[in-house]
Amino acid sequence: MFQDKWIIEIKSWNDWKIVTLVACTHWDELIWDVVFKFLLNDFNIKEKIKKWSLNLVIWNLEWFKIWKKYIDKDFNRIWELKEEDKEKYEYKRANEIKDIIIKSDFLFDLHSTTNPSPFFLIPNWKFEKSYLESFNCEYVVEDILNFLHWKPLVSYVSDNNEKSETMVMECFWERKEEEKIYINNVINYLNKIWIIEEKLPFEIEKQKPTIFKVKKAIHAKSMDVVFKYSENPKSFDFVKTWELVFTDWNESYFAENDFTILMPTKPRYIWEEIMYILEKA
Ligand SMILES: [Zn+2]
Repeated sequence: MFQDKWIIEIKSWNDWKIVTLVACTHWDELIWDVVFKFLLNDFNIKEKIKKWSLNLVIWNLEWFKIWKKYIDKDFNRIWELKEEDKEKYEYKRANEIKDIIIKSDFLFDLHSTTNPSPFFLIPNWKFEKSYLESFNCEYVVEDILNFLHWKPLVSYVSDNNEKSETMVMECFWERKEEEKIYINNVINYLNKIWIIEEKLPFEIEKQKPTIFKVKKAIHAKSMDVVFKYSENPKSFDFVKTWELVFTDWNESYFAENDFTILMPTKPRYIWEEIMYILEKA
């Protein structure tokens, strides 16, 4: 099924732009498998491409081959391509496909979580804003890519190809309703950029996302910060005005507005991670 370098390439007669769906970044994010199978088998995407070229990319190939966790370094943390990571599997794989990936005019990075999390999107700065509200999800976190202290795939692509529109989709997936919403969102996106022109395959009541922008990012490791929420952090915890958010050696920080806190990592990693304070856009 997969061609050279584990990419399925579906070309139209005029293939001057490239649309890429990237899957299989982290080992247990299996919703992509459902989506790729649906697109290829049920939706018959090969017959439906009107123009350009669509690439379906398996990213973490080692994991895909053995169907078990395989991590040297996180696939979404490798993209600074540092000399010190040269021997890492992910560095080698990144090197193998980076020239193909950065040609993407549109790139959609498909993730899913195994911990409870809302359904949300992370677009890059170039992403067409008018599209965002047409996705069926709970949140859009608009500008978080500017605040990360590592370089994920979508930032690597947008840094090297300033025309490219990239986006990450995340949802908590337990093999149920999310699949249909996820598939609808992917098809909706392909419709928006006019590579296909199709009805959404599933009828689902539409939820309009709340759009957030990042107000502040606090890096726990470098700042010796104690977060009030670090005991039991949940993504998208809500904080009311004047609640205590964190303390460090000198100060306590109280929320100056109603905020939402995004902490994408588990408590055991919190000391190495960032807390993002989000505000409604
Ligand atoms: Zn992921």
